[in-house]
Order: sequence, then structure tokens, then C-alpha cells
Amino acid sequence: MSSAEASEFASRLRQQGISAVAFDFDATALNFNTNPSTSYNGSFYYFTLQYTNKMSPDFVALVPKLIDMNIKVGIATFNDDIINDIRCNNDFIIGGNALVRPVLRHLFPDIHDSIEIWAWNPDKHSSYAPDGCRIPSNKNWHLEAMARRYGIRNPSQVLLVDDLESNIVGANLKGFRTIKVNGTEGFKMNESTVM
Ligand SMILES: [Mg+2]
Repeated sequence: MSSAEASEFASRLRQQGISAVAFDFDATALNFNTNPSTSYNGSFYYFTLQYTNKMSPDFVALVPKLIDMNIKVGIATFNDDIINDIRCNNDFIIGGNALVRPVLRHLFPDIHDSIEIWAWNPDKHSSYAPDGCRIPSNKNWHLEAMARRYGIRNPSQVLLVDDLESNIVGANLKGFRTIKVNGTEGFKMNESTVM
């Protein structure tokens, strides 16, 4: 995506009433899947630096344009911070803020701190389903948190970009807007339709 195309795409989102965009991380912002989480045992700095080469180029081009247009940008990930307490063999498992924040800092040194990260996996928090009923995993917790954070009352102003069908379906049921990412190579502007 050229810079001009990214600007045009951001303008179109603005015209469609979008004021906040939440990107999934794996296979959306990132052009592959870290599933279920990532472990490392070397230099953390170089570890996260590698990720900057594995991001969707369209994500990298679009984010600064969205922020220029005062459209809020966030990351909505199931890679929950609680996994960071886990040590597997000799590797540390990382995900959530511990992984996403350094990657954003490398990618967008001047603007990364205006990008919020919502790292939460409903399946890992029993208090989210106190009676033991299984709540379908989707990103609605993240989208509701984002709307609250920015004082957005109307869910149709919040857009989720995600490759997982269940997240898309869940978001649309609550009135959020969505872009379904196809395949596993991350967000591609020219394959994107806002639903
Ligand atoms: Mg994903």
C-alpha cells in the first residue's frame, strides 16, 4: 500500500463513521500466527526486532494515517498478559503487552504510545463466566473497553479488523463494524470490505 492509498483508505473509514479501529495481532497486524504464544531464550530486544519485518505492510502504512486523522488505534489480542508468568522448559513465553508493546515501539517510535493494547483472553478468566457457562470467545470485551476508553457510545463507530470468523460474527452481533482478514498473511487493504 502506498502512502497515498493508505490515506485514501483512512479517509474512507472516516467517511463511514469509524472513529476507532482495533486490530487483531496474529495473522492480522502480523503476517503470520504466533499461536498459541511465543517463547524466546535469546536477546529480547532482537527477538522483538524480528517481528517488525513480519508485520502486514498495509497495517504499517495505515496506522499512522489513522492516527493523523484522529481515528483511535488499538490492538485487541487474546494473547493474555497472564501467560507471561509461565516458563516452559528454558524458554520464557511472552505475549500480550510484553510482546506487542516492544514491536509497536520499533515500528512506530513517534506514535506508539497513542496505540492502546487490550490483551485479554476471556477463557483464561473464570470471573468473566462466574456460573461456569461458556461464553463464546470473541473480541467484544476488547471492543467495549476501547469504546469506553474513548467515550464512544455507538458501536458502529468502532471497527474490528480480524482474521477469525467467530470474532467477526460476535462483533457484528453487537453492532460493531468489521473487516474480515482473509488467509493467514495479515491485513490487506485491497481485500478489505467494511461490514
Ligand atoms: Mg488472528
